Amino acid sequence: MVTRMSQLFLRTLRDDPADAEVPSHRWLVRAGYIRRTAPGIYTWLPLGKRVLEAVAQVVREEMDRIGAQEVLFPALIPREIFEASGRYADYGEGIFRLTDRKSIDYLLAPTHEELFTLLVKSEYASYRDYPVTLYQIQTKYRDESRPRAGLLRGREFVMKDSYSFDLDDAGLQKSYDDHRVAYQRIFTRLGLDYRIAFAVSGAMGGSASEEFLAPAEFGEDTFVQCADCDYTANTEAVEIAAPPKQDPSSHPESVVLDTPDTPTIDTLVDRLNAMPELGRTFTGADTLKNVVLKTRQPGAPTWDLLVVGVPGDREVDLKRIAGQLEPVEVAQADADDLAKEPRLVRGYIGPQLLAGIGVRYLVDPLVVPGSAWVTGANEQDKHAAHVVRGRDFEPAGEIGAVEIRDGDRCARCGGELTIARGIEIGHIFQLGRKFADAFELDAQGAEGESIRITMGSYGVGVSRAVAAVAEQTCDESGLVWPASIAPYDVHVVPVGKAKPGEESEQLKAAEQIARDLAAAGKRVLLDDRNASAGEKFADADLLGMPTIVVVGKALADGEVEVKDRRSGERTKVALADVVTTLAART
Ligand code: ATP
Ligand code: MG
Repeated sequence: MVTRMSQLFLRTLRDDPADAEVPSHRWLVRAGYIRRTAPGIYTWLPLGKRVLEAVAQVVREEMDRIGAQEVLFPALIPREIFEASGRYADYGEGIFRLTDRKSIDYLLAPTHEELFTLLVKSEYASYRDYPVTLYQIQTKYRDESRPRAGLLRGREFVMKDSYSFDLDDAGLQKSYDDHRVAYQRIFTRLGLDYRIAFAVSGAMGGSASEEFLAPAEFGEDTFVQCADCDYTANTEAVEIAAPPKQDPSSHPESVVLDTPDTPTIDTLVDRLNAMPELGRTFTGADTLKNVVLKTRQPGAPTWDLLVVGVPGDREVDLKRIAGQLEPVEVAQADADDLAKEPRLVRGYIGPQLLAGIGVRYLVDPLVVPGSAWVTGANEQDKHAAHVVRGRDFEPAGEIGAVEIRDGDRCARCGGELTIARGIEIGHIFQLGRKFADAFELDAQGAEGESIRITMGSYGVGVSRAVAAVAEQTCDESGLVWPASIAPYDVHVVPVGKAKPGEESEQLKAAEQIARDLAAAGKRVLLDDRNASAGEKFADADLLGMPTIVVVGKALADGEVEVKDRRSGERTKVALADVVTTLAART
């Protein structure tokens, strides 16, 4: 097949779009692959549509290979279906809601667990029917609070979602493992560099949830990798090594200290070090910082206070906390929230009284049992020293709360952790019986008994993957597609002057090459436009087909130039050998 650029619905742009924050967004717009219709909502132009379809096709083939079957649900869903699972409330402002002419409420589905569960329930009854895995490739809608970076975080986007239905845990594990392999194949075929990261901590169930992350400088996700073992986790789930537990009775009695005018950890530490009676020196790491947050159950009208304790030399990572508390909402408490609990003395909050006044207190695992701290004394201008976990206060639990930093230690092997940024391109997750319980999805067993089905849920960001590939492969001249998803295999670029009213020799030769390549099964883009050589070269680089064939001056010697877009390498090839040379390439 040959597509002529003179006929192609394409306008490339010489300037960056004003709203482009990341390279993939910039190049996809400039190369005429996508156009913005509204914030987070994009139109796919012919070249973009071909890449999107190619990604979807790779996903489809690998899902089919593990025996999953493709279905297609509507995007427009009546409200009751999401209410039965409780998610109408969970999603809060994150979903688009609408009403029909009879005032019946609908939503545009952000994801489809409910519908898959109901479909299987309506069709299957016996244990003999199971297991089954269904998937769809479909447009999803989420009213993201911050749509950004073009296709990377859209409000309308294409996702492959699949769900496995099994009779028991062993079956679920197999479905999960099959998906993991399928995803490895998918992302390898897409030419992506990716990591598989734990998305929940070991304490919450180990490998039951993993994310596929494409490392990228401008990715929104941060993840952690150990230099010594293969441990990789997103920062929400990461477990870092904590110091050993201590004996609570090994510390002196706690004492209250006068510490006026110590608004920061540094000023407090200076004051402590000017108190020789404490018998030691202190650093920020010896202080316990208590940060007041608030949480709200899904659908609940009011917020509850939550205090989180971390070593004073560490920052609190609210996103990390939020990831672990989901679907419970969490936010920083403001002055109004604090005013409702006068026993919390701003700047001097300590955990000693929190349990007594009914305020939930969680600590980062770095605040190990038996450890002693300098912390607020719950009185204006006073701190307390030798305040011991397990003696002077008992937290309600632990939560990974500190901002992870380079050099933190791996909880598995003690190796050094480094932080990197990435794009979440896929997620596999053992959902268990949450939706089967909500919709009473049961199979009848061999003895007539009822078996509650267990589910897995698996997503690939299909449109996001287009941008992720662009993000990882683009260079300073534009897009660079891997052959597996490029809109065309070969871009044929004739450059040369023609006599008025005639075709140039180069164009004639280029037409022949294009026809021959097409006959050999290549998808060919031919730049038959009446444009300058500079313009054609710039566009060929910008559009990013894997191979560019330049038919120019060398034609006089019976040669063309074959350029590899990725490496930039150019080779002269005899006209007669072009087809065989390129056929051997991909
Ligand atoms: P994120 O944390 O990035 O918001 P998520 O956890 O909400 O993602 P899932 O609900 O697991 O994502 O969706 C499955 C996949 O769909 C994700 O792994 C991601 O690749 C893609 N995806 C999710 N939200 C968006 C979006 N707003 N725009 C484009 N792709 C998205
Ligand atoms: Mg999301």
